[in-house]
Amino acid sequence: MTEIKLYNTKTRRKELFEPIDADNVRMYVCGPTVYDRAHIGNARPVIVFDVLFRLLRHVYGEKHVTYVRNFTDVDDKINARAAESGRSIGEITGETTQWYLDDMAEVGALEPTHMPRATGYIGEMIAMIEALIAKDHAYAAEGHALFRVRSYENYGALSGRDVDDMIAGARVEVAPYKEDPMDFVLWKPSSEDQPGWDSPWGRGRPGWHIECSAMAKALLGDVFDIHGGGLDLQFPHHEDEIAQSCCANGTEEMARFWMHNEMLQVEGKKMSKSLGNFFTVRDLLEQGVPGEVIRFVMLSTHYRKPMDWTSRKAADAERALRRWYKLLKDVAPTEPFDEVLGLVSNDLNTAAALNFLGHMGQALSSSALADQEGLSQWETVRLQKEAQQFAASAQLLGFLQKGQGDWTETPDLNPLARKLSEARVAAMQTKDFSEVDRLKAAFIEAGLEVRMSKEGVELVPSAGFDPAKLEGLL
Ligand code: AMP
Ligand code: ZN
Repeated sequence: MTEIKLYNTKTRRKELFEPIDADNVRMYVCGPTVYDRAHIGNARPVIVFDVLFRLLRHVYGEKHVTYVRNFTDVDDKINARAAESGRSIGEITGETTQWYLDDMAEVGALEPTHMPRATGYIGEMIAMIEALIAKDHAYAAEGHALFRVRSYENYGALSGRDVDDMIAGARVEVAPYKEDPMDFVLWKPSSEDQPGWDSPWGRGRPGWHIECSAMAKALLGDVFDIHGGGLDLQFPHHEDEIAQSCCANGTEEMARFWMHNEMLQVEGKKMSKSLGNFFTVRDLLEQGVPGEVIRFVMLSTHYRKPMDWTSRKAADAERALRRWYKLLKDVAPTEPFDEVLGLVSNDLNTAAALNFLGHMGQALSSSALADQEGLSQWETVRLQKEAQQFAASAQLLGFLQKGQGDWTETPDLNPLARKLSEARVAAMQTKDFSEVDRLKAAFIEAGLEVRMSKEGVELVPSAGFDPAKLEGLL
């Protein structure tokens, strides 16, 4: 059986992965708070853990892996969005959940086995809080329930923090109903106009962390194999999940492996609305960036390294994928290359796997272009076999899920039209039209008719249109 090694945040080293039960390998990943479109950073954990899901299914069998990713559909950000938009909470969470599923399907992510919504598990959360209170790990005060952080001696072990240092340096909220500023909220009271549920502590709603502990227990059991999420969740969210689950369930650990993806930035800068470099997955799709290109760019950086989204990387990815689709037309996948399986099994080294496939793709393309007549029968068989392994390798990484037509037929011309239109705007300022002329000439050379008007630029394919000639223009 393929050996899988994963970096465990808990031990800070790469460890051999051995499931608790090979018949049911269990993974939980923290999902989105549903009040807005997923931004491009939100897609990173989805794609990273989708590759792990695919790898586990490949090694242990499709029916032997359970993957849970939640929807946080009770949260003060959602309440605020409802208040400012005048729409109901249900409408907002319902719509956003569907957007999320649609967008993540576009980037080639399989649906997890279970996608629980927090509001479906309020009873389980209340039961867990009651168990924590009964064991003196939590207390009720002024309509709140709070976790008594100092009652759990391992608090801080995951992120390597000391409780006293956290108080000195951290943004802990001091409140009159807290015994200790470190204690965190399990339950809080709701006013009339806020969503709320009846509980032993009065009408209220859960604090954020308890939902993951309750849903993981209900769907995966007290101790499971892998827990994942973005690095921003390591503290306090995951630290709090561990404290709640271990104390309520009386276990030493919540998950064997804790995995965290590093954060994504854009063109070298932290993504933020004020810098104007904030965009959603849907924005990219609408600009004509195919979902598989987004996936390719994400996987070309190791998940434990910060990654930079650049339009240059997207253009390179698109070129590589076009080559793959062309090469693998009508090829039936067999088994992935040992090299690719080995790299992905080594703490998800997708960057090296893509690099390997990149070289392999180039080699296969040039062999396929070579005069077939000149190849011996043996060589033809070998090439065919390699193409099939190539297809299986690409699928292990979640590529080649779409119909061939999406890639081999007319490419989306909108990004090119936009590029020309932007070049024209820039040229009006600088009076240097050389870039505009260069683009126009290249488009015409590729067989496109270029229509420029005040409204914008339109590119119309003519009879001799050759998409291959557009490669590298973006
Ligand atoms: P949220 O809806 O903010 O709770 O985030 C959902 C998921 O996206 C979590 O796993 C976060 O850790 C992850 N995430 C948020 N922002 C980024 C980012 N810029 N890069 C990578 N992951 C992110
Ligand atoms: Zn969580």
